[in-house]
Amino acid sequence: MRALVKTAKGPGQMALLDIEEPRTGPGQVKVRVARAGICGTDVHIASGEFFHYVPPLALGHEFAGVVAEVGEGVSGIAVGERVTAEPTKRTCGECPHCRSGHYNRCERREIAGVVSHGAFTDFVVTRAASIHKLPASVSFTAAALSEPLAVCVHGMTEQCSLKAGDAVLVCGPGAIGLSCLQVARALGARVIVAGTRKDAHRLALAGKLGAERAVTVEEGDLRAAVAGLTGGWGVDMAIEAAGAAPAFKTCLESVRKGGQILQVGIPGRPVEVDMSQVTWKEVRIAGTFGQKDTAWRTAIRLMEEKRVDMEVLVSDILPLGEWERGFRLMEQGGGLKVLLEPGR
Ligand SMILES: [Zn+2]
Ligand SMILES: [Zn+2]
Repeated sequence: MRALVKTAKGPGQMALLDIEEPRTGPGQVKVRVARAGICGTDVHIASGEFFHYVPPLALGHEFAGVVAEVGEGVSGIAVGERVTAEPTKRTCGECPHCRSGHYNRCERREIAGVVSHGAFTDFVVTRAASIHKLPASVSFTAAALSEPLAVCVHGMTEQCSLKAGDAVLVCGPGAIGLSCLQVARALGARVIVAGTRKDAHRLALAGKLGAERAVTVEEGDLRAAVAGLTGGWGVDMAIEAAGAAPAFKTCLESVRKGGQILQVGIPGRPVEVDMSQVTWKEVRIAGTFGQKDTAWRTAIRLMEEKRVDMEVLVSDILPLGEWERGFRLMEQGGGLKVLLEPGR
């Protein structure tokens, strides 16, 4: 089967290759990929900058499709069902993280498209526990974004605690930032989104998705926007979704005393932090990486109940053969979320 493969470490090293179709073992399910999203992580793996990946490997960890085969011992999942799947293909099941349900922290977790073949190809075989059935109202286009949505749900509600009425600042209006905005709105929070000049179209979308204010940091006065929304108090939760050092600084400046900062972006290099402010403000900083099934169930429910709109975040849907154009669109930031269709 045709797959977009990262063939070796370093910049580039990407090719459409023919790889062997995976076999469905006991406890596993084979999914025919309908649509798969290109993530910032894929772009960083393509450029050789990502901190951890194991080539040769078919990229792609955000996908939805149809069950093509069900392995021995799997019950409750049938061929032909519309599904999405967590990127977790295997966990050790024995370490303290797995035992306590935090399997996203398992050191031996096999992640699709990062350490094991992913979804930029026809078929993915994964553990049955990672399969989530799609309600009829959730399209493949929306469902291909279940993974980033579950990242936001996990970070905001499991790593941090978001409450109705909270004021939230989202720094970085990419697919993750705009999904965080939608989760916050769905849970009854008020949101300011901050971006840079190149984010104009994304900030406009943030306004349509219910942000109270969408601020271009070079032009608008973010400090005034935060003060205005919070009566000078500061936001309850600041989310760093840009993966940029200045964005973390902005989060620390904007969060109230006793507030929370969620670090979801991956800066890729050490960032200088004024720890005196962390002490002084009694700020809690939480990291978040991947997700657990609890967050997946919430993410799918939010889509089913139309409390979030993931389709609106998709700017382009391209055949797998046009992956180079897709990656270029993602790098240049002209679009928002680009999906690939392996079957086309
Ligand atoms: Zn991703
Ligand atoms: Zn484990």
